[in-house]
Amino acid sequence: MRVAVVTVGDELLAGDTENTNATWLCDKLDARGVAVERVTTLPDRIADIARVVNEYRAEYDAVVVTGGLGPTHDDVTMEGVAAAVGRSVEEHPDAVAWLTEHGGYSGDELAEGTTHLPARARMLPNEEGVAPGAVVERIYVLPGVPEEMKAMFESVAEEFDGDATYTESVVADEPESELVGRMRELQDRFDVTVGSYPGETVRLKLTARDEAVLDEATTWLRDRVVEPNGGEKTQR
Ligand code: ATP
Ligand code: MG
Repeated sequence: MRVAVVTVGDELLAGDTENTNATWLCDKLDARGVAVERVTTLPDRIADIARVVNEYRAEYDAVVVTGGLGPTHDDVTMEGVAAAVGRSVEEHPDAVAWLTEHGGYSGDELAEGTTHLPARARMLPNEEGVAPGAVVERIYVLPGVPEEMKAMFESVAEEFDGDATYTESVVADEPESELVGRMRELQDRFDVTVGSYPGETVRLKLTARDEAVLDEATTWLRDRVVEPNGGEKTQR
């Protein structure tokens, strides 16, 4: 399993805060046999986060992002990650439920934005603080506060175990915007995730845990796109 780590925060780039989260995560991931191939620090800026996270999710099996989760104006990580996967940021029912049941907050007390996550993300409760994390399309979004980040990472650490996943690429010689309906139908029909990476053509990357499901989904998609050349299968 190959992973990229993204740490977000102007204070890291200014040298005000030492990037101990990156070191800690690399250490933990390495100990699990995971290959960390990138560590990138970004400013608190939505466009930068969206661009880099989208690039890394195409390249790596998972992306771990930390920092910038709180509800204040400079915390824009959830928006950046949501933009990277083409989703909106919405109030997440699991986040509201967790914070009211376990955090002792009433709905009105929570600062606006605290419970907002990318649509249909998996919520990760913050056992050490308030702002919840999220998992969306193999992007793990964790808090910046080191103690909160560590506890939340430990709760998902077993997902970084190098389990075999299968990927295939389908190249479509069509405008990306016209592929949206077919990509949605593909994900409704099969237990696969799909990344879309436009260039001169659009590369659609299918990932599944089950090789037979991947083969079925790939065949289904190939039958429905204009493909200039074949994709290739890899096992990790
Ligand atoms: P909060 O909800 O408290 O705002 P957050 O998830 O938004 O948390 P940040 O605002 O990015 O996190 O940072 C909170 C604190 O954690 C700051 O003191 C910051 O310096 C520290 N921190 C953030 N990122 C890192 C890092 N990569 N390494 C070490 N400390 C960090
Ligand atoms: Mg913050």
